[in-house]
Amino acid sequence: ANVARTEAKSSGGNQAIFYQSDMNAEARTQLMLETDLRKAMEKGEIEVYYQPQVDAETLEITGAEALARWKHPTEGYVSPGIFIPLAESTGLIVEIGRHVLKTAVKDAETWQDAGFDCVHVGINLSGRQFTHSDLMKDIQAVLQETTLPAGCIDLEITESLAMSNADQNISILKGLKAMGVSLSIDDFGTGYSSLAYLQSFPIDTIKVDRSFILNLATVEGQAIVKTILAMAESLQLSVVVEGVEEDFQVEFLQGKHCQTFQGFKFGKPMNATAFLKLLHSKQ
Ligand code: C2E
Ligand code: MG
Ligand code: MG
Ligand code: MG
Repeated sequence: ANVARTEAKSSGGNQAIFYQSDMNAEARTQLMLETDLRKAMEKGEIEVYYQPQVDAETLEITGAEALARWKHPTEGYVSPGIFIPLAESTGLIVEIGRHVLKTAVKDAETWQDAGFDCVHVGINLSGRQFTHSDLMKDIQAVLQETTLPAGCIDLEITESLAMSNADQNISILKGLKAMGVSLSIDDFGTGYSSLAYLQSFPIDTIKVDRSFILNLATVEGQAIVKTILAMAESLQLSVVVEGVEEDFQVEFLQGKHCQTFQGFKFGKPMNATAFLKLLHSKQ
């Protein structure tokens, strides 16, 4: 029989977690993480890291993608691959997303004030932020408070987000676009949506998913990337390629319709101080 019992929380809180005795270890970890994630925001454990983006021809830094990091008090850094889905399923992503947005824009303003005036910042948005918060109001408020031009802010959405609630989301995206921010489709090519949305959505950029770049060593992989780049060119969309790690990938992509690289070859995600240092070192 399932005997419900309690266990003290790993991080020493006074709140007990109830769980079924046959609940597996993974599920218990999930529960503990969920409890801890609820407190992470107020405890200041959610940090924002920045991964450099470079011009595909000159290799100069043109911007950075803001990536959330959770520094758990006992577990160390928890991967966004784990806590972002958890934040999405619990709704905490609305608060976390707002925090990332505000922090990233503030940090980008600092870079601008330091003389790097055309550095862009990419911010990931989750579907919940469209459906469970007033995203337009949040963006408007942030734009009002900052000296950073709206055009330096690049909002990243996924194909699946674009496709769900398409009509409602198109109108929100159009509203955001009207404020002057730029819009990207993240992880392009990994959703299984029709390409028709590319025409109806007011987007500027596609970010080609890392999985395609991993396959650039094969002729078939090259053919797919070439096709994606040609399509982007004919639709007049600019292209960021994610996951660039090797010289041969750079060589293959240069001279094609690809404006920006992002990948470990040009830098891993780092904190704001390290990113500003990197900007200065390249001056
Ligand atoms: P993403 O938006 O596609 O971000 C790019 C991810 O690819 C980052 O992982 C980055 O570290 C990784 N990456 C970039 N270049 C390379 C490379 O050359 N090699 C390898 N192996 N990896 C590379 P990260 O930071 O772990 O984030 C994972 C995902 O979590 C993000 O994927 C995004 O979907 C989500 N995420 C992160 N921060 C936020 C956030 O603030 N809000 C939302 N909604 N999602 C976020
Ligand atoms: Mg992204
Ligand atoms: Mg991506
Ligand atoms: Mg990705």
